Amino acid sequence: MSFLPASVPDRSHETPRNATLIVALGWLALVLALAIHWSQLQASHRSQLQAAEKQIQLRAAETAHALAVQFDALIGNADYIARHLAERWAGAGRHAFLDDLALARSALPEGTLAHVLIADPRGKVLFSSAGADEAAATPSVAGRAYFQAHGPEHRTRAFISEPLFDRFTRQWTIQLSRPLLRDGHFAGVIAVSITAESLSLALRRIFPGPVDVAALVDDDGRYLAHSQQMDEALGKSLPESSPIRTERNSHSGSFAWRTPLDGVLRHFAWQRAPTYPVTVIHGLDKHEALRPVLAVLRENSTQNAFGTALLILVAVAVSAMFLYGHRQGARLAAMADQLELSLEAGGLGTWSWEPDTGKIQFDERWAAMLGYAEDELPRQASTWESRIHPADLQHTRQALDALLQGASTSAEGEYRLRHRDGHWIWVHGRCRIAARARDGRPVQVAGTLQNVSARVAEARLRTALLDQSAAAIALFTSTREIRSVNSRAREIFGSGGIDPVGRNVRELGLHVEWADLQTMNQHYATLRAGGQVRCEYPLRDASGRARWFDMHGTPSDPEDPDSDIVWTLIDITERREAETALATERLRMITLLERYPGGVLMEDGSGRVVMVNQKFCTLLALGVEAASLEGLDHVQLCTRLDEVHSRWLHLPDSEHSIEKRRTIEVNEGPAKTLAVEWVPIVRDTDTLGRVWLVRDISERKQREAELARLATTDTLTGLPNRRSFMASLDAAIADVRGHPERGGVLLMMDIDHFKRINDSYGHPVGDAVLQHAAEVIRSSLRQTDSAGRLGGEEFGAVLPAINLQDGKALAERLRRTLAGRPASTDAGKIEVSISIGLTPLTGDDPNLLFSRADRALYAAKNSGRNRVSVSQPEKALPAPAGDGVAQ
Ligand code: GH3
Ligand code: MG
Ligand code: MG
Repeated sequence: MSFLPASVPDRSHETPRNATLIVALGWLALVLALAIHWSQLQASHRSQLQAAEKQIQLRAAETAHALAVQFDALIGNADYIARHLAERWAGAGRHAFLDDLALARSALPEGTLAHVLIADPRGKVLFSSAGADEAAATPSVAGRAYFQAHGPEHRTRAFISEPLFDRFTRQWTIQLSRPLLRDGHFAGVIAVSITAESLSLALRRIFPGPVDVAALVDDDGRYLAHSQQMDEALGKSLPESSPIRTERNSHSGSFAWRTPLDGVLRHFAWQRAPTYPVTVIHGLDKHEALRPVLAVLRENSTQNAFGTALLILVAVAVSAMFLYGHRQGARLAAMADQLELSLEAGGLGTWSWEPDTGKIQFDERWAAMLGYAEDELPRQASTWESRIHPADLQHTRQALDALLQGASTSAEGEYRLRHRDGHWIWVHGRCRIAARARDGRPVQVAGTLQNVSARVAEARLRTALLDQSAAAIALFTSTREIRSVNSRAREIFGSGGIDPVGRNVRELGLHVEWADLQTMNQHYATLRAGGQVRCEYPLRDASGRARWFDMHGTPSDPEDPDSDIVWTLIDITERREAETALATERLRMITLLERYPGGVLMEDGSGRVVMVNQKFCTLLALGVEAASLEGLDHVQLCTRLDEVHSRWLHLPDSEHSIEKRRTIEVNEGPAKTLAVEWVPIVRDTDTLGRVWLVRDISERKQREAELARLATTDTLTGLPNRRSFMASLDAAIADVRGHPERGGVLLMMDIDHFKRINDSYGHPVGDAVLQHAAEVIRSSLRQTDSAGRLGGEEFGAVLPAINLQDGKALAERLRRTLAGRPASTDAGKIEVSISIGLTPLTGDDPNLLFSRADRALYAAKNSGRNRVSVSQPEKALPAPAGDGVAQ
């Protein structure tokens, strides 16, 4: 995090624009200066070169001039010889001529004079220094250029011919000729041949090397002699454009020319000889001549280039240093700004202390922290010492001593200082050794001071709040080490007074199961991604007991994956235990319900289905899984049922009436009976829910019916027993009491001499006879009549709604039937008869009716048996004549 406000630019990496400008301007000036210097240098070189060239030209011209004079003299000598010999030829004798010729030959350098020839006016050779043979071989020279030059016009000037190759001497010669005059008339020609070699030699002596050359040419530019390569040169001419040929009136001049002989560019100076028509040219090899100058100039250029390069290098270095210096300056300024801002933003006061002198220095913020202006406090250690809280003095001194003695490189701590107002402020101090003496002794300690009162107060408040919390709160590092805890967490996890802070979860043995740890690792992955975690998780407390906690974890800095995690833990052990117990109970109940033979449906107080078993669904013909009904309210449940079944699940009429248990029995088809029991779950006067129990009671019902049947039926004959018969009789009496007009009769029957049958055939045969008799009675009676076995071999029958006569007829028919239908037994067919006592059915007491019937029966027995006797009611009828029993 930067302490710099956004508005402060970070100038540490910038080069100030004006610095770049300065450097750019500097470079521009340097480039301009260098450009001027180099242009001046070039101009100077050019002028030096021009001066040098001029010198060369001058030198060449001077040399050419000197050579021209020299060669003019040399030719003058030859001319003098020619003229002198011409005189001697005309005036003296042949011997004197020859003597003078020998003299002339010796006067000239050796090898110079090649030949002397004299011809007459017609060109006939009169004399040849080569001898008579030669003269004879050359009969006429009239065609020669020198003869023609003198002949017709009688020119007296000396003529110098082009070089000729002498056949006899095999060398190049140049003829210098003069006319011979006699009396003013042309009398012939004298030609003195000078060897070109001698002339060239003279030149070569001066210019022995191939660099600078000199040559002698005639007015037509033809070479007469050449210091170098004479043989190649002779016979050739200077170009037509050369000034020697074009500027005939000029005596001297110069030109540059690349000589075809050797291809060297030379600077030529030429000078015509003052007397004779020859010109000396002197060529200086321009390159060679200028070489020293060029070398000097080149060296000068090199030195200048070196100087320039050095200057540029220096400029580059200076620029770089200048920019670096500026950048460093800007960076330092930025750093100073940043430091100041940091100190200001952090509210940091700075101070320094000299242990030797006890002097301290502090800034405005330091003093302001204590409520003073900077100049209000003495700059002595006592300023600080007198204001520190007595309780903090010792540990603060110890920290400083440790620093001074080299035990630590820096010191920091929190302590209290007294403010000007008298209250204490909490400060955080940091310091380190700023300077040491040569022997390593610290001589200056520098540090910062920050007012942390607000943070301390906040921390205290936070601690107080955290400690007040019922939840355990713990701050874990990313390595799962406890950084801090509140008192509740300390209470739970601090075993035996050991502080859990600084310990990790493994040391504390917090995890219960390996599997739990795996789960926690997943949670930590979520937390590292900046998410929050809410989970129920078991941890061991200080006593080693596993306790369940509702845990909430959140990273202290969601942006930082390694930030601390704040865990809030609420002990839910009791709730978990209760839930476990509840779950167990529920499991038990579910097991019970599934085992329960009937259907069970349980609704809560609001009518919502909370539990239902599969049997319920089966019994109510619901083709669904029982679990699918859970959560439905009563109305929804009823819509799933058909109309008949939904009626079974009735609800109380009024909400305010206290619900009472109620059972209804319903028939599901002919042989199926269900009992639907509705049981309210009530606490005090509150209905908490209700349970429907649906049981299949078909079997019980059948058993009950069977028992009932067994209780009213005689087992041997299948007729109703005495009690049942008595009930029928009571009903018939009641009926006849309501409707006396309907009438009816009571029969009492007894098998005649039954004892004999028993005695004769045995008791089982007697039973078979009894069954036979009962069957006959049953079949003889009407649908509405009721018969019963009264005991032994006595039977009774109630015939309702019948008059006495019809009743008697029916009884008679019964008696006759039995008598005419022997019983089929194991002992064969046995005839059997019955005596019947009959009395009308009246509203009298049954016992009375019985006794009347019994009386009639007794009468029938006494009358001989196998007959019907009637006994009339005594009151209803007038007293009979006999004993009241009719036969
Ligand atoms: P009477 O014509 O005077 O009626 O002659 P009786 O032999 O029938 O005389 P009584 O009524 O005294 O005899 C009834 C006999 O019926 C006595 C008893 O042993 C016999 N007895 C009673 N109950 C049963 C029974 O369930 N089975 C058999 N086999 N005999 C019975
Ligand atoms: Mg009897
Ligand atoms: Mg009998």
